[in-house]
Amino acid sequence: MSPDARQAWFRTLGQLALVLLAGLGLGLLLGHPWPALAITALGVVGWHYWRLHRVLQRLEARQRPEPVGGSGAWNSLDALLFRGQTEMRMRKRRLLTMLRAYRAVAAALPDAVVLVERNSQRVLWFNEAATPLLGLHYPQHHNAPVAQALQPLPMAQWLAAGRNAEPMEDVASPVDPGRRLSLRLLPYSDELWLLLARDVSKLLRLEHMRRDFVANVSHELRTPLTVIHGYLEMLDADDNPEWAALLAEMRRQSQRMTRLVEDLLTLSRLEARDQLPEEHVAMAPLLASLRREAEALSGGRHRVQVEDLAQVDLRGASKELHSAFGNLVSNAVRYTPDGGGISIRLSREADGGALLSVRDSGYGIPAAHLPRLTERFYRVSTSRSRESGGTGLGLAIVKHVLGLHEAQLRIDSEVGIGSTFSCRFGPERVLDRGLDHDSSAIHPT
Ligand code: ADP
Repeated sequence: MSPDARQAWFRTLGQLALVLLAGLGLGLLLGHPWPALAITALGVVGWHYWRLHRVLQRLEARQRPEPVGGSGAWNSLDALLFRGQTEMRMRKRRLLTMLRAYRAVAAALPDAVVLVERNSQRVLWFNEAATPLLGLHYPQHHNAPVAQALQPLPMAQWLAAGRNAEPMEDVASPVDPGRRLSLRLLPYSDELWLLLARDVSKLLRLEHMRRDFVANVSHELRTPLTVIHGYLEMLDADDNPEWAALLAEMRRQSQRMTRLVEDLLTLSRLEARDQLPEEHVAMAPLLASLRREAEALSGGRHRVQVEDLAQVDLRGASKELHSAFGNLVSNAVRYTPDGGGISIRLSREADGGALLSVRDSGYGIPAAHLPRLTERFYRVSTSRSRESGGTGLGLAIVKHVLGLHEAQLRIDSEVGIGSTFSCRFGPERVLDRGLDHDSSAIHPT
C-alpha cells in the first residue's frame, strides 16, 4: 500500500471510531446507549454502501469526470481506479494510432500485400493495391480460400512449399494478363503468411527492350562485318608488302568483332528462351570433339587429357551444351601457359547426377574475382583476355546454357596453380548410354 492510501485508510478508521463514539455519547445522554450505537452503525453502513454505489456508477460511466478531492479510503480508491483507467485508455489510444499508421502504410504500398492464415489458407486482410494487381475485392474475398481467390495462379502447390516457396517471377496477373507480377511468400509467423505481389511489367519491358536492342545491333553489324571481312581476305599482302602488318591487324580485329557479334547473338538467343529443345546428348562423341578442339587450339603447346568415368549421357540441348563446354575448354587453353595440362573429365555424383569438369594448370583466378566471373565482359585481366582472343562473353554464355539445364557452374581456382570449372547436372538430366538414340552418335568412328 502506498503511504497516501495507508493514510487515507487510517483516517477512515479514525472517522468510523469517532462517529461510533459520538453515537454512543449521544445515546448515553438520552439514556439509550445501545439502540443509539446500533442506529449510528447502521448509518455508517448505509453511507459506505452509498459510496460503493457511486464508485460503481463512475466505473461504468463512458465519460468519467475527475474524482472530487477527499481524503478518505473511498476517495483514494476512486482516484486510484481513475488513474488506472486513464492510463489504460491512453495506452489503448497509442496502440490504435500505431496500428492505424501501420495499416495506412501497408494500404498505401504500391505492391499488393495479402495476409493469409496459414492453416486454413484463407485471406485475412489485403491492401488497396491487391485489387488492381490480384483482383481481390472487399468483402467477397475477405476470409476466402487464397487459392480460389487468386485463380488461375498456381497457388496450391506454391503454398504447399511454405517456407521453401521460391518467388514466382514473371506470372500474369489474374485480372489483367498483360500485367506481369512477381510473387513472394513471407512466412513471418507460425500462423500468418504475407503474400507480396509486385508489378514488374515495366521492368520486364525494359529488359526486353535491352535484349532486343542488343540482338538488333548485333544482327545489323553482322552483314557489314561479313563484307569487310570478305574484302580483307581478298586483299593480297603480296601486292603491297608494306601493308602486310596493317592487313594482318585489320583481319585480326575484324575476326574479333565477328566473334563478339556472334557471342552477343548467342547470348540474346539464350536469354530469350525459357527452355531449350531436349534431346539425348551422346557424351562420348562430345568428349572426343572437345579433345579435338582443345588440341587444335593448343597446337601442341599443352597436354590434353580426357577421362570418361561416368559412362552416361545427358538430356539437354546438344548444340548449346557443346558450345558451353567448348567455351570452358577454350578458356582453359587460353589461360594456361605453354607446357601446362588440361583435363576434361565426366564423372558421376553421389546423388546420381553428373559432373563435367575442365581443369587446367594455368594462371588461376584470385578469389575476389570469382563471384563476378560470369558477368558479361567481366575479365580478370583485360589485356590477357584480348591477347588470347577472348570476347568476355564466354562464361556468361556458359552460365545461361547451364541455367536452362537446371545445372550449376562451380569455379575453384588458385593463383599460380590452376582452375577447375565444373558443370553439375541433376540426376534427372542423366541418361544411360546407348538407349533411345542413334547409336552412331554415341560411338565415335
Ligand atoms: P574471355 O573471353 O575474356 O575469356 P570469359 O567470359 O570466357 O571471357 O571469361 C571471363 C574471364 O574469366 C576471363 O577474362 C579470364 O580473366 C577469366 N577466366 C576464365 N577462364 C579462366 C581460366 N581457365 N583460367 C584463368 N582465368 C580464367
